[in-house]
Amino acid sequence: KQISISDKPATIEQKYDILCLLGSGAFSKVRLAETKTQPVERYAVKIIEKKSIKGYERFLQNEISVLKRFSKNDPDGEKLTHPNIVQLFETFEDENKVYLVMELVTGGELFDRIVEKGFYSERDASQLLKQLFEAVDYLHQHGVVHRDLKPENLLYDTPDEDSKIMITDFGFARMDNSGTMKTECGTPGYAAPEVIAKVAYGKAVDVWSLGVIAYILLCGYPPFYDDNDAMLYAKISKGHFTFDSPYWDPISASAKHLIMKLLCVCVEERYTCQQALQHPWISGNAAICRNIH
Ligand code: ADP
Ligand code: MG
Repeated sequence: KQISISDKPATIEQKYDILCLLGSGAFSKVRLAETKTQPVERYAVKIIEKKSIKGYERFLQNEISVLKRFSKNDPDGEKLTHPNIVQLFETFEDENKVYLVMELVTGGELFDRIVEKGFYSERDASQLLKQLFEAVDYLHQHGVVHRDLKPENLLYDTPDEDSKIMITDFGFARMDNSGTMKTECGTPGYAAPEVIAKVAYGKAVDVWSLGVIAYILLCGYPPFYDDNDAMLYAKISKGHFTFDSPYWDPISASAKHLIMKLLCVCVEERYTCQQALQHPWISGNAAICRNIH
């Protein structure tokens, strides 16, 4: 039997009602949670089965410690809150599961909005990417590399058309103090060439993933695709992609220029978040007047 040394309830069920499923990932289920006390507060609780992460507990430890740094409620947190980074409020653990009580966002995955819309206008894509580059730049400035940026891990805050976007799922995130890192991770279609080559890699991998997302937003399909993983890896390693006709014909040269600077195999030549934020398609009005495509 556990002895509670704080005011914190021993089990999550004492404080919250765990309700409907909001989403699921490879390692977790995320459910709606409501406080039992008035006024009712709503949260998202990420539930991880301990047996499903056996041997990989360090990933969960890492996710929790990164999220804590960026959460205002955590007593040890550095309160590096950012409007586009989801907050962690508290954690629970029982014999079989770990629970992360997080800020609830209700607008659904970017993935589903892309599927629904087909593709984004340049104006909408540029506004979305600006928020993402700002948030990822903030992470990078504080030494964190996300390493799994993809439309399933980017959630709209509300169902509104003009809702802000939130970055979630820090399961693969790492502190990048040394400048380079070397573990395998991420999802193949969004992984940078240096991830696939298993050479040391750092912040630039997130920029690559945002390049893949930028490409998908504008045309509705991925720059690198193959049913066969080995073939897909070969395509990514070469960094070979095309702006196919007719889909890319109406899209501005400025958008294409930015994508080429993001999906650049050579890490030294690839843009940083700062450089992307200064690109006219993001910072200026290159995309604002292009609301047709
Ligand atoms: P995994 O590490 O297993 O991929 P995620 O953290 O990506 O888990 O969460 C899985 C899914 O749950 C997400 O793709 C999203 O649909 C949903 N989800 C995650 N966090 C939240 C949240 N804070 N609010 C609402 N839904 C969420
Ligand atoms: Mg996920």
